[in-house]
Amino acid sequence: MFGGPLLEFEVLESTNKTAADLLSHGNAAHGTVILAHAQSDGRGQRGRSWQSAPSLDLTFTIVTKPAGLKADAQFGISKVAALAVHDAVRARVQGDTRIKWPNDILIDRRKVAGILIKNDLVGELVVNSLIGVGINVNNQELPEELVATSLAIESGTLHDRLSLLREVLDRFGYWWAKWESAREEGLVSYTDRLWTRGRWADMLLDGEATKARALDVDPLGRLLIELTDGTVQAYGLDRLRFAPR
Ligand code: ATP
Repeated sequence: MFGGPLLEFEVLESTNKTAADLLSHGNAAHGTVILAHAQSDGRGQRGRSWQSAPSLDLTFTIVTKPAGLKADAQFGISKVAALAVHDAVRARVQGDTRIKWPNDILIDRRKVAGILIKNDLVGELVVNSLIGVGINVNNQELPEELVATSLAIESGTLHDRLSLLREVLDRFGYWWAKWESAREEGLVSYTDRLWTRGRWADMLLDGEATKARALDVDPLGRLLIELTDGTVQAYGLDRLRFAPR
């Protein structure tokens, strides 16, 4: 279902941008995947850039049109995407692979994949969701300041990027179906895989350095944390983030 059709490009500004352009012209059905072997303007959250090595890494966008998805349940898409990428990465490396809330994938403390989701809302429904994924696959020369790693660095061997893509799409289909049939309850695995879950970690709350323990994610996708004074509260990305690793 996901990856039919698979549209492959040598170079794009970004796969999310091409996906949005195709959608706006009515040319991207649910399940379409846009793959670029190189991106000239890859993006992360908050407009930051995503670097990928041409023909060594994987950058793609999955176009989805969720049925009847309410805006306040849209974090389910982040869970589906993070679980799918986590499954495929974890199967290829030895290190401790975790989901860094909301949807990066880390091996030990290094980032191996990033996910950028763009949802279009009409009224209170999410009508389109573009799920952009960047995975460091065969690049073994990542700049140290990124605190990043790749599948090749972790496993000591090169990986076939198209097989990895197929596996991520298969796992995406698996979690998507589970989520559609059970919405929230189906995806508790996300909580089990959270980076620093139950451990005191350095976070920034309203820009202030804070120690907190991640407990879970609430239905709105906010991270539920315990502060050192024992208070438990949920915060969104607008107020809370992990301190630089
Ligand atoms: P952080 O991980 O610093 O908390 P974030 O979760 O907000 O940031 P994203 O928006 O998901 O980050 O990704 C963009 C950031 O990821 C960039 O600012 C850069 O620091 C880092 N980055 C860019 N390219 C890569 C890459 N190939 N591998 C790992 N990290 C990268």
